Amino acid sequence: MADLFPDAPRRSRRVLMRVVDAGDHGCVTKYRYFVHLQCPLCGHDDGWSEHHTKRETLSQPCPKCNEVAHIEGGAA
Ligand SMILES: [Zn+2]
Repeated sequence: MADLFPDAPRRSRRVLMRVVDAGDHGCVTKYRYFVHLQCPLCGHDDGWSEHHTKRETLSQPCPKCNEVAHIEGGAA
């Protein structure tokens, strides 16, 4: 799990959604990327969404995982 996004900043423990499918919805819009996002950790399925850049598709946080702040490291 740790090496999914090797260039992501290590200080952030946010769980990012993963692109499980990408395609073209056949419409011409200002959004170039149409992707299906799913969380690799909890399996939350965010469905299809449109984004301006590829980087944007890769930086969507999981709404479920990131609302829980005590995933690890909280019990020192
Ligand atoms: Zn999640």
